[in-house]
Amino acid sequence: MTCKTFKISELNDSSAQQIPVTRPYFPPIEKYTRLVENVYENGWLTNGGPVLDELTQRLKQKFQTEHLLIVNNGTSALQIAYKIFNLENKNVITSPYTFPATATALQWIGANVVHADICPDTWNLDSKSVRQVLENQKIDAIVPVNIFGNPCNLAEFEKIGKEFNIPIIYDSAQALLSKYQNQPIFNFGDVHCVSFHATKLFHTVEGGALIFKNKQDYETAQKLINFGIESNGEVLIPGTNAKLSELHAAMGICVLNDVDMLVQMRSDNIQTYKQHLPKQLQFQKINESDFTAPMYMPVLFPNEQFLLKAEKHLAKSGILSRRYFYPRNHKFLLEDQGIVSNLRNCDSVSNRILCLPLMHDLKESEVVYICNLLHEVFS
Ligand SMILES: *Cc1c(COP(=O)(O)O)cnc(C)c1O
Repeated sequence: MTCKTFKISELNDSSAQQIPVTRPYFPPIEKYTRLVENVYENGWLTNGGPVLDELTQRLKQKFQTEHLLIVNNGTSALQIAYKIFNLENKNVITSPYTFPATATALQWIGANVVHADICPDTWNLDSKSVRQVLENQKIDAIVPVNIFGNPCNLAEFEKIGKEFNIPIIYDSAQALLSKYQNQPIFNFGDVHCVSFHATKLFHTVEGGALIFKNKQDYETAQKLINFGIESNGEVLIPGTNAKLSELHAAMGICVLNDVDMLVQMRSDNIQTYKQHLPKQLQFQKINESDFTAPMYMPVLFPNEQFLLKAEKHLAKSGILSRRYFYPRNHKFLLEDQGIVSNLRNCDSVSNRILCLPLMHDLKESEVVYICNLLHEVFS
């Protein structure tokens, strides 16, 4: 194995001062160690221990919900939700503009992924496009995504779910702290799947949760994450292992204690971005009564050429940006089926969105510096 050595001069150049697109939050180590010591004293590492129980209770209280179940990651949460609503061999509409897991978890359980288009301004699944698909095809469930934490049209999807008698399963991986019409997003839909991955605003290193409307679905999920074992030891439905360990839960408690501060710091950065970014860049449209958890800083370029130029220009100064979500999922899926995409809004928008650095410890001066570099792209 070789080991790269650095000269002092190299460590002082811009490559040593790269700004990543995001950085996970590390709570003060003394606080984490204190909780780890608890875990040692308890002599309990996993399988529904007391630290996980405390984290669960705190989240239930925070979101005023009885049916919140913590799991080992957001993708497991999606797979379990899809399993509970029996989506094997079923047609499921989801957004083409999302992180791959939304759709690959559907494929993993053998569902048929159907796309509807997104709104050109909110970048969320468009309920009108969903209605058009519903007119032409038998659909068994809808999986809207609250993309970049921006709540989609939850009231309209609620209506559609009732009208067509199909479940609405939310990929809320990025939206734990978001609000729709001044209320928690969890007041809508049959289930929400959230992610507590290290790169998310609230995290447990790896982790996630399911928040159900119905008690019965919640109780089924409790069994499914533990191999499907019933209280008498029998297995009636085959489950999986999606439990979260005590050490992960301990990290969750530390991060939860600081989460209001993290939201504030990231929101301040977003404000600074919005004041200083060139006017050629557009932001995601957020409705006034909604709150978007400050997880990402996506901007829409007038065209892909400007985006590529900006990506390069930032990288030269050690600023890393990321094209979320690119290449587009739906292209792969459609090309597999030999279909040409007719998702006009998604086609138009997904080529032009770049996420700029956003993290709790990004300095105001760094945000202004990034904005100035972007002004150079358009000058
Ligand atoms: C992060 C994310 C996931 C996956 O969550 P993991 O915890 O990483 O498995 C799924 N969907 C969306 C939209 C995400 O952002």
